[in-house]
Amino acid sequence: MAGLSTALALGLKGLPVQLLEQADQIGAIGYGVQMGPNVVPMLRALGVEKEVVEASYLPPDIELLDAYTSERLTHLPLKTPAFLNRYQGLPYLAIHRVDLHEVLLKACAKLPHVHLNQSTTVIDFEQDHNGVRAMGSEGQVFVGRALIAADGLRSKLRAKLHPEDSPVESGYVAHRCLLPMSQLPDVLKSRAGVTMWTGKGFHVIYYPLRGSSVLNMVLVVQLPQGVQTVSDQAYADHIERIKSEVSEPARAAMGHMDLKRRWAIADREPLRGWSDKRVTLLGDSAHATLQSFAQGACMAMEDSVVLAELLGNSALDVQEAFKAFEKKRFLRTARVQLQSRSLWEDFHCGGHWAAVRTARFTEQKTEDFFRCLDWLWTPIDLSLAQVKGA
Ligand SMILES: Cc1cc2nc3c(=O)[nH]c(=O)nc-3n(C[C@H](O)[C@H](O)[C@H](O)COP(=O)(O)OP(=O)(O)OC[C@H]3O[C@@H](n4cnc5c(N)ncnc54)[C@H](O)[C@@H]3O)c2cc1C
Repeated sequence: MAGLSTALALGLKGLPVQLLEQADQIGAIGYGVQMGPNVVPMLRALGVEKEVVEASYLPPDIELLDAYTSERLTHLPLKTPAFLNRYQGLPYLAIHRVDLHEVLLKACAKLPHVHLNQSTTVIDFEQDHNGVRAMGSEGQVFVGRALIAADGLRSKLRAKLHPEDSPVESGYVAHRCLLPMSQLPDVLKSRAGVTMWTGKGFHVIYYPLRGSSVLNMVLVVQLPQGVQTVSDQAYADHIERIKSEVSEPARAAMGHMDLKRRWAIADREPLRGWSDKRVTLLGDSAHATLQSFAQGACMAMEDSVVLAELLGNSALDVQEAFKAFEKKRFLRTARVQLQSRSLWEDFHCGGHWAAVRTARFTEQKTEDFFRCLDWLWTPIDLSLAQVKGA
C-alpha cells in the first residue's frame, strides 16, 4: 500500500521510480480497509479520488456494541450534514484492498518512468554521497538517488537502521474473511454500517463491501496463555467459550470466521530517526500501529503524498527532504500509535475496567466523539510552510 502510493505520488511529480516488491503479484490478496475522510484529499493528490470512491462502499455509520449485553457504546453517523460539515464534505470509505491496489496500479501504469519490479526481495543496501544501491536476493542491484523502505511492520530495512528495535507483539491474533452476503443470516445482513462487538480479550467487526455484495469480517482474539497455534484444541475451546457468552450477531459473525488463517497483531514503539542520509522508512515500517482507529493504511497514504511534496521541492535535497518528512509526520503518526494502544484497552477490557469504559463511552454524545476524532479525521495541511528550511 505505502510503496504503491509513494511510487504514484513520486511519479506524478515527474520523478523516476523503481518499485521493488517481494510478492510475485502486487496486492493480489486482501480484505477490507476503512479509510477516514482524512484520506480523500490524498487520493485527490494522487489523481485517483473518483476511481477509489466509485470502488468503495460508503457505510452510513459506525456502531460499537457490548458483545455480552448488546448495549450500544458509540454511534457515529457518517453521512449526516453534521459529519459532512465537520469534515469538508468528504466521505468515509470502505474498500477491498485488491480494488484499491488495482486503481493505484492502473494509475502507475500510465507513468512511463514508474517501473514495478515484482518477485524482488530487497535484502540490503549501501549508500554514499552520490546515491543508494539496493540489493535483491537474486543478486540484482538497483541504483537510485534515494531508497524509501515501505516494507511493512516487520521491515528488514528498519532493522538495519535500528537493530535494537523490534515489533511489539500484542498477544492478539486476527482472523479475516470475506463472505458473499447471500450466504449470511439476516442478523448479519441487516446492518449497513460498520459494526463492532467488543468483549474481554476479543472484538469482532464487520461491514459490507463491493456494493454490499460481500461482508468483510475480522475477529481479533487474545491468545490464551500457552496456546501457540490455532490448531490447538485449547484455542478452539477458547473461541467456543467466547461464542457461548456473546449475543447472537456477534456469535453468528464468529461462527462464519475461517479460524485456520491468522495474523499476529503487533505494532511499533514511536521512534525518531526514520532516515539515514538517503534512506528513509515510510508507512508501517516507520510507525506501525494497532488497527484501533483503522488508520494504518491511511497514515501510509498521507506519508506518500507528504514525501512526494518534499522530494518534488527543488529547494530541498534528498537528505533535507527526509528530515523534513519525519518532522512533519512524527507527532501525528506517534499519536495514532499511542492512542490506538489506549483504545485497544478500551475495546478488550473486562470486569470493572469494562464497566468504567461503558460509563465513559455512553455518557458521551456523538458530538463528543467527533471532537475526539477531529485531530485524525480532519485532512492534513499539505503546504510546506512549516518545514521549509528544515
Ligand atoms: C486486521 C487488520 C485490519 C486493518 N484495517 C485497517 C483499516 O481498516 N484501515 C487502515 O487504514 N489500516 C488498516 N490496517 C493497517 C494496514 O493494513 C497497514 O497499516 C498497511 O497495510 C501498511 O501498509 P505498508 O505498505 O506500510 O505495509 P504492508 O501493507 O505490510 O506492505 C509492505 C509491503 O512490502 C513488501 N516487502 C516486505 N519486505 C520486503 C522486502 N525485503 N523486499 C521487497 N518487498 C518487501 C511486502 O510484500 C508488502 O507488499 C489493518 C491492519 C490489520 C492487521
